[in-house]
Amino acid sequence: MPKKQTATEIRGFCSIGEYLQGPGIFMDLPHYAGKYGTVTVALIDPYFKALGEELTEKFSAGGQTLHVVLFNGQCSEEEIERVTGIARDVKASCIVGIGGGKTLDTARAVSPALNIAEILCVTSASCDAPTSSHSVVYKEDHTCRAVVHNKHPEYVLVDTDLVIQAPPRLLAAGIGDALATYFEAVTTQAANNVNNFGDGYAQTLTGMAIAKLCFETLLAKGEEAYHANCMHLRTQAFEDIVEANTLMSGLGTENTGCNISHGVSTALATIRDTFDRLHGETVTYGVLCQLIIENAPTELFDRVYKLCKNVGLPVCLADLGIKENVEEKLHTAFEYAVANKEILWIPVYPVTAERLFNAAMFVDSLKDKY
Ligand SMILES: [Zn+2]
Repeated sequence: MPKKQTATEIRGFCSIGEYLQGPGIFMDLPHYAGKYGTVTVALIDPYFKALGEELTEKFSAGGQTLHVVLFNGQCSEEEIERVTGIARDVKASCIVGIGGGKTLDTARAVSPALNIAEILCVTSASCDAPTSSHSVVYKEDHTCRAVVHNKHPEYVLVDTDLVIQAPPRLLAAGIGDALATYFEAVTTQAANNVNNFGDGYAQTLTGMAIAKLCFETLLAKGEEAYHANCMHLRTQAFEDIVEANTLMSGLGTENTGCNISHGVSTALATIRDTFDRLHGETVTYGVLCQLIIENAPTELFDRVYKLCKNVGLPVCLADLGIKENVEEKLHTAFEYAVANKEILWIPVYPVTAERLFNAAMFVDSLKDKY
């Protein structure tokens, strides 16, 4: 669907049905899935196979059926078709995704295909995708495209007993992804661009308030939550950041819009050196570049930079794995990004490849200053 670039007078706000976060919430899954019928299909990361077995018993104890399908590792057309076929064959009334972003994206695509309910079970707070209405679908050559669905999940469940056991790098990546939300919201608003769902709408005050609260929460609790995750001690600061990374950033991004931070991230993600980096890690670098491009107050830049550094997020190109032929790789990546408007919405000022390059190199030079 072609995206309108300029906001109309129509304000738009979208949301998931319900968001539930806390220790042990996954064990209530039969209750929520049971609202839609008695047959549920759960697409599960192989890592959580034992959890699938435990849930299967819980479903059958309550007179329901849970069919567990192990995820094959990639959200591709083939995998979506495979899982859709299984859910169709067993006449499922609900599809559940349990695991990482790709598992959830696959489950999310099954729901609209069969017009059945969708419950996404989040096991790490590594990005803000769980609450969105998009799936990122990959081809064999590592390229991907965002597929927009016409619905949001009925439920997003976040079991913080599992999230606290996940590697802290995942929480940090979620912080990086969430850091982009408010800055991109402000730039989108200044440019009178549309937000990030449906045909694109003008921002609501509600969406902006969520994006702002997301940023304030990250600044206030980000480092404390990361430390709690390192110690695997579930604290309220940790719960706050899980909510910021997942709910606030998710609703904030869809309802306000993306631009420079995610544009830089997508550009960097085309460089082979970064292929094993997480989405939120390349977005982090995009945030730092955006602040430089927008000439943000030095004090603000300092706070963001130090937060990123203190939670182990990449603050220089070597941290992203880009160590050789740096300038050549950046030029190629940014020229691609600017030419491809699908990934870099043009805000109020001209975003040239040179501006992006200069910002990226400048951020890199700060590694000796901080
Ligand atoms: Zn993102």
